[in-house]
Amino acid sequence: MNTIYLFDVDGTLTPAKNNIDTKFAAQFLKWSKSRQVYIVSGGSFIRILNQIKRPIFDQVQGVFACMGNAYYTNRFNKEDGYSTWTEAYKNKFDIKKQKDFYAELDWIVKDSPFHIKTGRHYEERVGMVNFSIVGRNATMEQRKVYEEYDAKFKEREKIVEKLSKKYKGIDFVIGGAVSMDIFNKGNDKSQVIHRVLKDKLEDHRIVFVGDRIPFPGNDHSLASVLQTHKNGHTIEVESWRDTAKLLSTDLFASG
Ligand SMILES: [Mg+2]
Repeated sequence: MNTIYLFDVDGTLTPAKNNIDTKFAAQFLKWSKSRQVYIVSGGSFIRILNQIKRPIFDQVQGVFACMGNAYYTNRFNKEDGYSTWTEAYKNKFDIKKQKDFYAELDWIVKDSPFHIKTGRHYEERVGMVNFSIVGRNATMEQRKVYEEYDAKFKEREKIVEKLSKKYKGIDFVIGGAVSMDIFNKGNDKSQVIHRVLKDKLEDHRIVFVGDRIPFPGNDHSLASVLQTHKNGHTIEVESWRDTAKLLSTDLFASG
């Protein structure tokens, strides 16, 4: 049985919000050459390209950006070395009383006891909103401070729980190291299977590697679909270093 490999980006192929390690990039490029590989990330198409770099990007079969809310397929031409990317679909984040909703997010930021708030607390992406208390202007150090704070006080879990109760048609999950992802119910990473790879799962083994598999992590929805299917495999990593080690194991040997 042939295998299809799916990889999350932040925390799985790269350090969160960072670019891929050069040595690992070379290893991954070599490994992925003869295999079917898809990228599944919360980031935008351009951001993923910047993170994992052109050579790997050109070699993968497809990219699911913005939590699977935008899907791009790739056709690589071996002769001229160019790839042709096609946008297969794109979702829209849809919420009634949008203004009130964003006002509520602002209020949650104000209300948080965490002391560093750097601005740009939410960002609208394709089919989703990314939300953080520390804000997108935060430096790596400030993000680190929040990460430690959140690990101790579970602030994001509490926010996600509170908002989930109030907004029934909307899903809230913990994404990345400091943020939360917000989207219409079902418009999460599980779309990778439900909308695109469903038929392939019947005669392919599908292996997914992610760093946020337990609920309410942003890899949970995709992982749980695969965990309930006999051909699905999921592997949780703590960093790209774990992923690097995985590539030489048996599960990653099949083409
Ligand atoms: Mg991740």
